[in-house]
Amino acid sequence: MLTATASTWVLRPAVGAAARLRVGVAGGGIVGASIAMHLARAGASVWLFEKAAPAQGATRNSFAWVNAFVDDTHYRALRLESIAAYHALDRALSLGMVWGGYLNWASDGAEAAGVRANAYQLESSPYPVRAVAAQEIGRLDPNLATGPVSAAIYSSIDGHLDPVQVTRRFLVIATAAGARVLYPCEVTALEVARGRLRAVRTTQGTFALDRLVVAAGVDTPRLLAMAGFPLALRHAPGILAHSASVTPLTRLVHDAPGGVSFKQMADGSVVGTDAPTPPDTPEHQEIRAQVAQFPSVELERWHGERILGRIAQFLPGVHGAPLERLTLGFRPMPPDELPVMGSLPTCRAIHVAVTHSGVTLAPIVGRLTAEEVLNDSRAELFAPYRPERFGVRYLSNHASVRSTASFE
Ligand SMILES: Cc1cc2nc3c(=O)[nH]c(=O)nc-3n(C[C@H](O)[C@H](O)[C@H](O)COP(=O)(O)OP(=O)(O)OC[C@H]3O[C@@H](n4cnc5c(N)ncnc54)[C@H](O)[C@@H]3O)c2cc1C
Repeated sequence: MLTATASTWVLRPAVGAAARLRVGVAGGGIVGASIAMHLARAGASVWLFEKAAPAQGATRNSFAWVNAFVDDTHYRALRLESIAAYHALDRALSLGMVWGGYLNWASDGAEAAGVRANAYQLESSPYPVRAVAAQEIGRLDPNLATGPVSAAIYSSIDGHLDPVQVTRRFLVIATAAGARVLYPCEVTALEVARGRLRAVRTTQGTFALDRLVVAAGVDTPRLLAMAGFPLALRHAPGILAHSASVTPLTRLVHDAPGGVSFKQMADGSVVGTDAPTPPDTPEHQEIRAQVAQFPSVELERWHGERILGRIAQFLPGVHGAPLERLTLGFRPMPPDELPVMGSLPTCRAIHVAVTHSGVTLAPIVGRLTAEEVLNDSRAELFAPYRPERFGVRYLSNHASVRSTASFE
């Protein structure tokens, strides 16, 4: 099932016209960095434009669990390919990933039903997930205090990573292969006429490019609108508490009873949350309604300490560890929660790569997007994820689309 080998991440060098392609990538998160790395390794001339600094968007605020826990079988297969690619990339590029697997256990009846349903659904799939008994949990993770266990599942191939470090590593490799990584450099306007990309305007000048890949996270809709393609993302904030470094306690990613998720980074800090979104209280109204930061430092600290306290219930070694920071991030979440990948119907020279679970998907998205851009091809694995599925009324190739939109 894990088919990727060390060579899978390197594209064959492009030949002929493809080798001379000038390709821009808008966005220096983990997705844009992976695309730039794959393009540059394949021989394209690459410019990556990042409006702030690499890995400052959703990537910095991600839990960064590499997994394939989704119901849709095609999407699960795409994610499994990406996990396989990560195993190969980690060996080839020393990404510092933590491959401890994933454990989800429940203590009461209602949560246990969900855990058992997951085990049942995945039993005959290629994802190596299996039910485990309480005694085995003790062997898998001796530092855990599970409390009563009524159902548990374990995946042996899941892992986690430091998303900022891995993004930087991808960019180092892209740069070594000739890519120019420009920041702060914001893409401010796209010149598109008769379905063709004429130029990309940025705060560091105007670039005549053959292709542009938009991997701008939650800002992607603004850039696509400049090419006449309307895409709306859902608003999906999430918070994470980060402790100061503690002694090594666990290598697994955990989903514990009551919705508490946590892991320990390679640097010793423990990261986790007990809420996929900020709590629904008057204090959080602005965050829940729009992209806004925490209303006060006191509230941040209160949440962070509360979350670490809940984690310590299951991982006692965290007890008393100081809160290092609380992060608030905004997931780039397409309306149907599936990736949006490929060239735009309004301008084939502009590609989009926006997805939730972009940390998990970065290797496969990087490889397949680079292949599509360089070979003018359409990857079979991306078939269900085309932008066209949103059924927007887009202009035909013969209509003139001239973007004057700008957010300078
Ligand atoms: C709380 C939380 C938990 C998560 N947990 C997981 C998880 O466990 N596993 C998982 O796989 N995924 C997880 N995700 C999702 C994952 O983090 C994202 O899908 C991924 O980081 C997206 O990467 P990206 O490169 O597409 O976007 P980003 O990291 O947001 O990068 C986009 C970049 O584009 C730049 N940009 C925007 N506009 C412009 C412009 N006009 N010009 C130039 N640059 C521009 C931004 O500055 C930004 O740096 C989580 C996300 C959050 C917030």
